[in-house]
Amino acid sequence: MPADALRHVAVVGASLAGTVLADALRRNGFDGRITLIGGEASPAYSRPALSKGVLTGKEQLDDILLHPLGSDVEQRLGTHVVSVDLDARRLVLDDGDEIAFDGLAITTGARARRLADLGAAEPGARETTFRDILDARRLGGELDRARRVVIVGAGILGMELASACVDRGAEVILIDQQPPLRAQLGEFLADLAVAAALERGVRFVQDASVRIRGRETPVVELGDGRRFEGDVVISAVGCLPNVEWLAGTHLDTAGGVRVDSRGRAGGNVVAAGDVAAYPSGSGHRRTPLWNSAMEQARTAAAALLRGDEAPPLIPPEYFWTEQFGLAIKACGTLPPAGQPIYLEGGPGASELLLQWRSGDVPTTAVAVNTRVPVKKLRALSRRA
Ligand SMILES: Cc1cc2nc3c(=O)[nH]c(=O)nc-3n(C[C@H](O)[C@H](O)[C@H](O)COP(=O)(O)OP(=O)(O)OC[C@H]3O[C@@H](n4cnc5c(N)ncnc54)[C@H](O)[C@@H]3O)c2cc1C
Repeated sequence: MPADALRHVAVVGASLAGTVLADALRRNGFDGRITLIGGEASPAYSRPALSKGVLTGKEQLDDILLHPLGSDVEQRLGTHVVSVDLDARRLVLDDGDEIAFDGLAITTGARARRLADLGAAEPGARETTFRDILDARRLGGELDRARRVVIVGAGILGMELASACVDRGAEVILIDQQPPLRAQLGEFLADLAVAAALERGVRFVQDASVRIRGRETPVVELGDGRRFEGDVVISAVGCLPNVEWLAGTHLDTAGGVRVDSRGRAGGNVVAAGDVAAYPSGSGHRRTPLWNSAMEQARTAAAALLRGDEAPPLIPPEYFWTEQFGLAIKACGTLPPAGQPIYLEGGPGASELLLQWRSGDVPTTAVAVNTRVPVKKLRALSRRA
């Protein structure tokens, strides 16, 4: 559909990708109607701040709200889209309303995957997950009383939650099938974070088989028979794209909404953020990270208006995490392989600027507890 025929864009999902996309439509000169529909009742906020600032009690919702959209974007918050008819160009909302559109942006993100989704939970087991402000408030309240927290999944989120729980005075046991953080950050950075966690008293447990049971007092049982009881058991085992409302459409949603390099899913439909699977060197993949969601949203907005003339996505390849006193910012390929070169600091130092190379070619640059502009970090992660 030519852009001048596009009079009403519906954006479904009102978090980071949805708000950035709506804003980018305006910045690209779109003066038609935009309706942003979001399942959460609160305006968009920074999800990364939930595990870093909110859970530790340093921040509240008001501190982490994203920049508000202008009044030229109609917002329907606290409302889920339950289905869509792409041929008739019509959305059905959970309050029974219907919204007609001629352009659709899918930005419904992801939800926490549960052990129950993996067939690793007894029916009714008390499993806690962590994805939104309500989860953060609920877990924050539980941590007022909890003495022992068991976390299943020692990836980035599991480690950040462990760090916050330790800050809140809980004893933490982290269980995973794999060595902590290796798959995400590689051996060097994983070892750094694990050493910091061990220093704070976190206990790491590895086992190939994990199962949760218990309605009142949750227990994690391992394949070798060990049992870990917690006042709270949190699973941090990845996320699943929110695509159920797209059932019955022609869209390929098996591993997230499959799009081209400009975020187009076909016709007048684009997708961005945690729900979207963009082409990558290893096939179509979701990249559930903050900067990816932002760049994809800008790319998809431009493509909805300008089609092939809009530039394809340049993956931002930027990521950060904060845990156990370590502020880690990374640009380039993750996980980096092998040992880094120390550009600043050295073995044992708490402030580091690191670079990984493949032969002579830089692949990854990482700052640990050091203020380095992202632009500089990015330059250090690439061939000059
Ligand atoms: C605790 C936590 C910490 C994180 N920390 C980091 C970090 O340190 N660094 C980093 O790079 N990334 C981090 N991330 C990832 C980052 O927050 C996400 O990549 C980003 O939020 C994705 O934005 P999104 O808009 O695509 O999806 P989401 O933020 O998931 O938002 C999707 C929105 O769509 C709504 N929705 C879903 N279905 C419907 C429907 N049918 N109708 C209407 N609305 C719907 C949802 O309610 C939600 O509000 C973290 C994530 C979490 C949960």
